[in-house]
Amino acid sequence: MKVVSGCFAGIHCTYKKGHNRVDEIQRLVREGKAIPVCPEQLGGLSTPRPPAEIIGGDGDDVLDGKAKVIDIHGKDVTDEFISGAEEALQVALSIGATEALLKESSPSCGSCKIYDGTHTGKKKEGIGVTTALFRRHGIIVASEETWNEEEKTE
Ligand code: SF4
Repeated sequence: MKVVSGCFAGIHCTYKKGHNRVDEIQRLVREGKAIPVCPEQLGGLSTPRPPAEIIGGDGDDVLDGKAKVIDIHGKDVTDEFISGAEEALQVALSIGATEALLKESSPSCGSCKIYDGTHTGKKKEGIGVTTALFRRHGIIVASEETWNEEEKTE
């Protein structure tokens, strides 16, 4: 059983109230092989919501108190991002998930890169807050870009 980003499953949970549906991932949910979660919604943020980026590091740094998540209006939403990651982890643990498929580049879900904190669309190497927390608990995190091709025909 996997956890997947809710927006992959067609749920309108992105900051713009859109989705990032991936048909193969939506199929996993339909077949009962994956559970969709949106950490930002689970952290209590609204949908739609102002976009937010990690300033001063990546998700690991946020968990260690060395970086913050700031929205485009300058509001500190670090607590909501950490709370959402913790709630998403609870879902993962409750279903015994050992793997997750999360949306690349998101400040919550990114697993190779994230937006660089300038709100200009530029990216940097790093991981999101939820990915960092999942990995600290031994959950393997892949993205739509790194997901093993063989698994897509599972
Ligand atoms: S937090 Fe993750 S699941 Fe939620 S909209 Fe962003 S990328 Fe999708």
